[in-house]
Amino acid sequence: ANVFSEVPLIPGDALFALKSRYLKDTRAHKVDLGIGAYRDENGKPWILPSVKEAEKLLQQDPEFNHEYLPLNGFAPFVEAAAKVILGEDSSALKEERVASIQTLSGTGSLHLAARFIKTFYKQSETVYLSAPTWANHFPVFEVLGLKTATYSYWDDVNKSLDIENYLKDIENAPKGSIFVLHACAHNPTGLDPTRDQWIQILEAIKKNNHLPLFDSAYQGFASGNLQNDAWALQKGVEILESPILICQSFAKNAGVYGERTGAFHVVLPKNSNNTKAISSQLAAFTRSEFSNPPAYGAKVVAKILTVPELRIQWEKDLITMSQRIYKQRVALRDLLVQLDTPGNWDHIVNQQGMFSFTGLTKSQVARLETEHAIYLASNGRASVAGLNEHNVEHVAKSIDEAVR
Ligand code: PMP
Repeated sequence: ANVFSEVPLIPGDALFALKSRYLKDTRAHKVDLGIGAYRDENGKPWILPSVKEAEKLLQQDPEFNHEYLPLNGFAPFVEAAAKVILGEDSSALKEERVASIQTLSGTGSLHLAARFIKTFYKQSETVYLSAPTWANHFPVFEVLGLKTATYSYWDDVNKSLDIENYLKDIENAPKGSIFVLHACAHNPTGLDPTRDQWIQILEAIKKNNHLPLFDSAYQGFASGNLQNDAWALQKGVEILESPILICQSFAKNAGVYGERTGAFHVVLPKNSNNTKAISSQLAAFTRSEFSNPPAYGAKVVAKILTVPELRIQWEKDLITMSQRIYKQRVALRDLLVQLDTPGNWDHIVNQQGMFSFTGLTKSQVARLETEHAIYLASNGRASVAGLNEHNVEHVAKSIDEAVR
């Protein structure tokens, strides 16, 4: 007998459903502004030149093999990953108060963070997420039995950061709550706090003894500069006195989406001496869930992080990606201004990273899809990486038509 006959069917993930509608669409001029993956000027996936070189080096290496990695992952990768996010001169690294482990990309890192919090953090079980946030943030914490709540972030009227209510929400949350902070290139709004605002946010977190978790999925992808995009996180490490959790993904900034390459770091406060114990627990989590992490992406990314010529090339690749996206933001805004499209479109240029929160309504988004073969998330989030010289005019004209 089918003892699973009562298993209910649930609707598929909205973004993956969008992708499958896009793939089925036979209109030649269709445009995919859905899922967050970089596309080149012809709308094609891009293997970074630095990654291509790294793969060549691996192929030529007589020592290369497909053996299991240790539970904590590929050590050269984990070490270099910690350095790139915390900074070459990080005092936390020098003082050996960072426990790091390789993870299944950013999502796997968030999962491990959630399990770590659930198991060892006794002060709170409530994880505060920005309103709005990346949709998967909710289930990734809830699946481990943690509660989620939201803090103010996006001011819909002014298309800006609602810093006043953001700070109030930090203040009003029970002391010791968990706060998830997007390290840069906030998803979905593309809007990051200014440096002054970051200091206010971090000071408020410190004052209320909250536990910060930095989700860093776009380092170098936002501004094109690795250090710049890690500024807020490194400031946090400098001024906060609590541990800091860091979930790091190389999916976007190295373009290794499907290789599931990431890391989780626990930065302990000064004079802590239990880094090894924490590492041992993280390794035990890995062991029970997937035994050991995938090797290939970690070996590739270790090369681009540590081989000097590849590192230079990677930093160029980050500029290539971020500049191309920025140019398309400007092109779209300028076209909308030329068309005299109702509304102000400057936010498209002021936002950074992969996404623009366009402000288009659900019905306008639906119209773009049915009438113009343009696909974006129903909340109006457009993946700017899907724009290029060949389609930006069609997109601008279609937005103009949809909002009138
Ligand atoms: N956090 C945020 C904010 C993201 O946007 C993403 C990717 N969409 C991730 C984490 C995780 O991505 P991945 O698991 O592919 O590294």
